[in-house]
Amino acid sequence: MTQVMGPWRGVGTDEAASMSLLSATSIDEDRARPKAALHVLGPPRRGCSDELTPIAPAPERPRDFEIPTALVDAAGRRVRYVRLSVTDRCDLACTYCMPPHGERAHARREELLDFDEIVRLARVLHRMGVERLRLTGGEPLVRRGVPELVARLHTVAPSLALTMTTNGTRLGPLAASLAQSGLSSVNVSLDSLDPQRFAAITRGGSLDLVLAGIEAARAAGLEVKLNTVLQGEASLGELPALIAWAWARGLTPRFIELMPMGEASSLPSSDFIPIARARERLSGLVEDGRDPSSARGPARYLVEPRTDRRVGLIAAASEPFCEGCNRIRLTARGELRGCLGHPHGVALRPVLRHSGSDDRDLAWALVAGLSGARRGHEMPSIGARLAAFGDGAHARVGMSLVGG
Ligand code: SAM
Ligand code: SF4
Repeated sequence: MTQVMGPWRGVGTDEAASMSLLSATSIDEDRARPKAALHVLGPPRRGCSDELTPIAPAPERPRDFEIPTALVDAAGRRVRYVRLSVTDRCDLACTYCMPPHGERAHARREELLDFDEIVRLARVLHRMGVERLRLTGGEPLVRRGVPELVARLHTVAPSLALTMTTNGTRLGPLAASLAQSGLSSVNVSLDSLDPQRFAAITRGGSLDLVLAGIEAARAAGLEVKLNTVLQGEASLGELPALIAWAWARGLTPRFIELMPMGEASSLPSSDFIPIARARERLSGLVEDGRDPSSARGPARYLVEPRTDRRVGLIAAASEPFCEGCNRIRLTARGELRGCLGHPHGVALRPVLRHSGSDDRDLAWALVAGLSGARRGHEMPSIGARLAAFGDGAHARVGMSLVGG
């Protein structure tokens, strides 16, 4: 059995997953409720790090509403990409993401969308023009049966590109079945190649396990990208080694600016490295303008002209990419969030669980929820505004709860 670190230290993963879900009752309260109004969600309550608070019901679905073929947010951006969290739990506890013993209030089992609900949601989203679905978390692979979920999603929407962001700890045994089920690519988090530093960042994670996971993913034919969060000067120091390691395997490394959310909002400002500092270190590379912004996502790519090898840079805080953002997030609890950078959203679970709801109700919930998404997030840079930011609503909601 895989060794488990972080909040479940000392407990096998499947065992821990089921233990952590034991508080769930077998009766699903939401299913038994009468048709619920959609809940528009506002900022979390003070001192509550993990819940979005319902503040107002959304309007009833108009009778003549038909499912649109495009999903467009309030800023006029067409949504083609959805990040869907399958769990808010994780077997690691990275210092910038997760409190040492896990989030205070993980979703209870009955709060998690089940696979039928996720598949239904994906089918409707695909009908509304979504082309790419990324499974994430928490750590998506600590939820049992994810390869089966991937297979079901692939069956109902064969042209939907299915990808995953993972910490890689469980990719070793699962990569082949994920690839066979229809997953096309994985983004693996790899913050350091130094085993000690890796263990410190992840609070006990095994670098060897992750490296084996990456090899298994490559062997299974999955496209692999590597994500490294820049944290402190040590990350800059490791830049050349991480790039060399990735390029030697034909992989693209990507460096991500620390975002001031959850745990990261209480890190010292010296941990925040603006992406410009990474750019300075990569002066031999040039801007790669080949990808249209819709294909590139939030990453800006630099390329080594002679070899065509690339490095991605993602800077949510210092170089926001809101104009070109075409993604939305669905939390493991079934909350739709139009933007990572502010806490408003819509609860889809009551709609999914109402026995009389149909796909038009679900599509309307998505449309109504996104009509509140703002242009431009509220994410100040850690370095400049950490003090004022510390009490901000989104500072309290960590990435593992929103679905990173
Ligand atoms: N557990 C998986 C993993 O680590 O890849 C998937 C979920 S994780 C929340 C998704 C991504 O968010 C990871 O690449 C992680 O490094 C990144 N992340 C988490 N907290 C972050 C923060 N405060 N700033 C920037 N990136 C963060
Ligand atoms: Fe877990 Fe990923 Fe957050 Fe690290 S970044 S604690 S691996 S969810």
